[in-house]
Amino acid sequence: MPRPADPPTDALLAPYACHEKDSRGRAHAESPPAGHRTEYQRDRDRIVHSTAFRRLVYKTQVFVNHEGDLYRTRLTHSLEVAQIARSVSVALSLNETLCEAICLAHDLGHTPFGHAGQDALNECMRDYGGFEHNLQSLRVVDELEERYAEFSGLNLTFECREGILKHCSARNAATLGELGRRFLERQQPSLEAQLANLADEIAYNNHDVDDGLRAGLVTTRELGEVALFARHHAEVERRYPGIAERRLVHEVVRRMINEVVTDLIDTTRARIEAAPPASVAAVRAYGQPLIAFSERIHSEHRELKRFLHERVYRHFRVVRMTTKAQRVVKALFRAYFDDLRLLPDEHRDAARRLEGLAGADGRARAVADYIAGMTDRYAILEHARLYDPSVPQG
Ligand code: MG
Repeated sequence: MPRPADPPTDALLAPYACHEKDSRGRAHAESPPAGHRTEYQRDRDRIVHSTAFRRLVYKTQVFVNHEGDLYRTRLTHSLEVAQIARSVSVALSLNETLCEAICLAHDLGHTPFGHAGQDALNECMRDYGGFEHNLQSLRVVDELEERYAEFSGLNLTFECREGILKHCSARNAATLGELGRRFLERQQPSLEAQLANLADEIAYNNHDVDDGLRAGLVTTRELGEVALFARHHAEVERRYPGIAERRLVHEVVRRMINEVVTDLIDTTRARIEAAPPASVAAVRAYGQPLIAFSERIHSEHRELKRFLHERVYRHFRVVRMTTKAQRVVKALFRAYFDDLRLLPDEHRDAARRLEGLAGADGRARAVADYIAGMTDRYAILEHARLYDPSVPQG
């Protein structure tokens, strides 16, 4: 079947997909895009042109950027997530462009140093409202990007913002109006948003296998404990005896992703057929997510995730790196928060403005915004500038 024309028209989409004609629109009214673009293409383009998107290239996924050039970064991860989601989206007649936009934006709020950085910043922010990277991604597209004369942020559509906010605590959801309502009323997001969420999981689980092997943190033998890996590993060795290790790993990971993605499409199709939702409103009101893995793949995926947690993310070499990273983030926070004069002008102004509005919470939020926006290497350099007297100010 030929791919839908680009830009996709609503007519090619399933009734349960996000149709632009039903969009809840943007916070600031704008005239429609010029004829060659759709509203969701406009969202996607704004994301790709944003400053936060360019910074993803120097932000860690699992391995700190300077540890090697071949590991995934947040940027390559985001591209891989988008690629997986787009394929599934076309297979299910969902809105491919919206799905792509959500995926490209999903990690924009990530701190430097991956989850270690986010945990450290959350700890620093404990008394000031906490820090959630998902909510920060939304904050980036809603407020922090400064590219337009008439509004702050990127002014994305409701559907794109809904997809970016994957998780949210009830306390924060209560402050988000319409966007937060689904977390309080336990409604589902659109299928495009549900898909972006699972594509993220597929991408990082499978690619962390590849990166973990490349870094020498685990071996293919150890991965034999994981059913999903073992099955494809045995098949590749049977078909290609004596195949070189690196090629073998790529073959196995490729086949793992393929199986998981095919399962996701088949399972979701069956669930949609059984439901079947007549519109995106019916998708949102449905009691559970419709985008899903089969029971078997779901549990195999969980097994893989557990393995990665125990053997890769808790490997002493990774823990040494993440501990260092947490020290850097905490030291930066402490220095800026205690003495705003250490901040560059625009961030000091933001801290004073937010402090005027919300007291210490606001002051801390501006510091967290500055730190969360840093790349790994910028955070390391800033730490040296603040704490190492021999390092000159840039
Ligand atoms: Mg991700």
